[in-house]
Amino acid sequence: MELKLYDTLTKEKRAFQPLDPANVRMYVCGPTVYDFAHIGNARPVIVFDVLFRLLRHRYGADHVTYVRNITDVDDKINDRAARDFPGLPLNESIRKVTAQTERQFHDDVDALGCLRPTVEPRATEHIAEMRAIIEKLIANGNAYVANDHVLFAVDTMPAYGRLAKRSLDEMMAGARVDVAAYKRSEMDFVLWKPSKPGEPSWPSPGGIAVEGRPGWHIECSAMAWKHLGERFDIHGGGIDLVFPHHENEIAQTCCAFHEDRMANVWMHNGFLQVEGEKMSKSLGNFITIRQLLADWPGEVLRLNMLKTHYRSPIDWTLKGLEESSKIIDGWYDVVGEAAAAGPVDAGFLEALCDDLNIPAAIGRLHQVARLSTADAAADARAALKVSAGLLGLLTSSASARKADRLSQARIDEGAVEQLIDARAAARARKDFKESDRIRDELAAMGVVLKDGKGPDGQPLTTWEIA
Ligand code: AMP
Ligand code: ZN
Repeated sequence: MELKLYDTLTKEKRAFQPLDPANVRMYVCGPTVYDFAHIGNARPVIVFDVLFRLLRHRYGADHVTYVRNITDVDDKINDRAARDFPGLPLNESIRKVTAQTERQFHDDVDALGCLRPTVEPRATEHIAEMRAIIEKLIANGNAYVANDHVLFAVDTMPAYGRLAKRSLDEMMAGARVDVAAYKRSEMDFVLWKPSKPGEPSWPSPGGIAVEGRPGWHIECSAMAWKHLGERFDIHGGGIDLVFPHHENEIAQTCCAFHEDRMANVWMHNGFLQVEGEKMSKSLGNFITIRQLLADWPGEVLRLNMLKTHYRSPIDWTLKGLEESSKIIDGWYDVVGEAAAAGPVDAGFLEALCDDLNIPAAIGRLHQVARLSTADAAADARAALKVSAGLLGLLTSSASARKADRLSQARIDEGAVEQLIDARAAARARKDFKESDRIRDELAAMGVVLKDGKGPDGQPLTTWEIA
């Protein structure tokens, strides 16, 4: 089955041909670590996690390298560090902020069922590579030193604007670029800039005497180069990164290494929005992953994200979450304790291979779930479990999930079982007042009882979380 991916650069869906099937290489821009990530930030993490899983399925788990960086040098980090740890030297407080935020990010995306990438490079550990690229760009005539800055001269690259599909004039009108007197052209962007006193700083390239720090775009070019080479297969991120971030990454990498492509396929997820507007820190209309995880299992958030095609906008609503929660519950009921054995459902895989048509793939899972009541029930249950696993869903067993939810709801499973036994004993001696009292006590704990008959015809009480 062919895998087709939509390439933002050529605006077409193409058959995916890895440069090296023994090492399929993907880079996705990761978080700037200064605060809790919001659920919009989770979208690229989840979408590209599904692609990572699909690539591992196709090419083998050891034949895919997925790099997602940590941006740990940025003005927002410096501001946060100064605010939160005013008594400490800035460099120390910055390390505290980045270490703590990185930990929070990992906990959050782990809870959303995302695999860790193969490599998670930090920008501050790749300064040497950044300087090396900048020196190449200066030597090639694509960059110049001015006022202790190094700038990329966009008019030296005829293909500049190809990804964004805008002319230089349009980009100039659209971008709020700094108009600095030392720039040769307004559109020239910063590769390196001097650090302010107390800020993190490193020896500068280009013969600049004062220490400085990198611009944002060069960080990704350097980390991608170090871990994936001069040219690789897939580069991803949110649609807001197309311009200027990805356009500038392409300019830096292609001009430094004399390549006509940085990545063969450029993939971008659409926005997660609230009432028609992009969720973002600056608009203040955001909800963190952490806040949502207090109320919803990670899998419900994950499914809710995946119900919409990755290139379309998602409206994040309570109604959507409730619906996703019902779907997950229903699927767990179907799967029961089935093992993840056997092949992935063919229709499901076909949808996934059509530029990650996950909504269609989920539609197919609903069909498979319905088959589980028919003759081939056991096969269908296994197919549902295996296929959903490729989306990072239904990865627990039904019983483990129940235990999880118990611990989340702080319900003591042993105590529940004891109360159920006590109630059964009360019923056996026809003490219905006591048995009703126990039922009410359990209800107050959030436990709902279902009285039925066991396989032996004897009364059997099962229970679940309300
Ligand atoms: P940032 O920390 O803003 O650089 O964002 C990290 C990642 O999240 C980038 O790939 C962004 O494109 C992506 N992102 C940020 N906000 C949203 C949103 N509302 N919807 C989808 N992706 C987003
Ligand atoms: Zn990037």
